Amino acid sequence: MIVVLKPGRDAQEEREVSRLLRDAAGVRVTATTWKPTGEELLVCDRGVAADLVDQLTAMSAVERVVPSTGTMRLAGRSFSATDRIVDVAGVAIGGQGFVVAAGPCAVESAEQLEDAATAVTLSAARLLRGGAYKPRTSPYSFQGLGVRGLEMLAAQRKRTGLPVVTEVMSPADVELVAGFADMLQIGTRNMQNFPLLHEVGASGKPVLLKRGMAATIEEWLLAAEHILRHGDGNVVLCERGIRTFEPLTRFTLDLSAVPAVKRLSHLPVIVDPSHGTGHQYLVKPLALAAAAVGADGLLIDVHATPSAALCDGQQALSGAQFDELMGALTPVLAAVGRPLAAAPEATRCR
Ligand code: PEP
Ligand code: MN
Repeated sequence: MIVVLKPGRDAQEEREVSRLLRDAAGVRVTATTWKPTGEELLVCDRGVAADLVDQLTAMSAVERVVPSTGTMRLAGRSFSATDRIVDVAGVAIGGQGFVVAAGPCAVESAEQLEDAATAVTLSAARLLRGGAYKPRTSPYSFQGLGVRGLEMLAAQRKRTGLPVVTEVMSPADVELVAGFADMLQIGTRNMQNFPLLHEVGASGKPVLLKRGMAATIEEWLLAAEHILRHGDGNVVLCERGIRTFEPLTRFTLDLSAVPAVKRLSHLPVIVDPSHGTGHQYLVKPLALAAAAVGADGLLIDVHATPSAALCDGQQALSGAQFDELMGALTPVLAAVGRPLAAAPEATRCR
């Protein structure tokens, strides 16, 4: 349950609300500000009986009581009926415009990143993706270029005007990565790394939270809740496939999660059909399907020469294949009443 306090209340009135919650109902409360609206909240550790909700609602310091009894207090629909729009350096995710983030799985070199960045910019991607810190299953695989990779991403942001989304793997690296990135990505393997979630929440940067490969939708939304509790509400969810018994695809892309999450939460949801399927030939059909089921955008691996990629080349689209996908998206989006997000002023490379 959340008690939203009135802006002009006096201290005595507020103390009465806290006293009633603590003493009469035994509820533990945490005071916090919901930065998107500036509302001041008392987040309760559980719900209370209906008559107490009525009593609280009638108090002069109380704006409204959100009687969510579940654990998704900030991420849940009951907290906000309006869809959240997350601003990533001028690119709005969760509004009318459908946002495509694209780029190489890993930043490999300045030239490789530049080629991919040019291709995705020319084909109307709105965000540039690329990993500098790579969570690789094998310690012998390419681990990413680290800070040098971040510098290359920042250089491509400057050249193309596209805001950058990149992964951060450790709480200790959050400040560093946030200094280069416009959006911090939490990978599937870190969805429940709680210290990392708290740190990215506090960083002030928007966060792209990938679904854990073995996480239920509730666990995923509770991971978002951890970020929201420490941050300013700018979380975008990313469905990227879950582990099932099917070995033909790398993961099983759970597109039912998109409308399911939209029913439960006000947060935007995008889909990653590259990691979700692991195969180039499946990326376009699943991307179109994601648009059709109401996703707010896509995350797509693009590499100028997929066969030469140091990471995940089998699922990367070439520039030409990406362009074809973007062309195919337009009629599907039109059918569900959405346009591709317009280019912000700063986008170059045209
Ligand atoms: C990625 O997007 O580069 C990535 C590593 O994805 P995931 O965490 O979904 O495997
Ligand atoms: Mn990858």
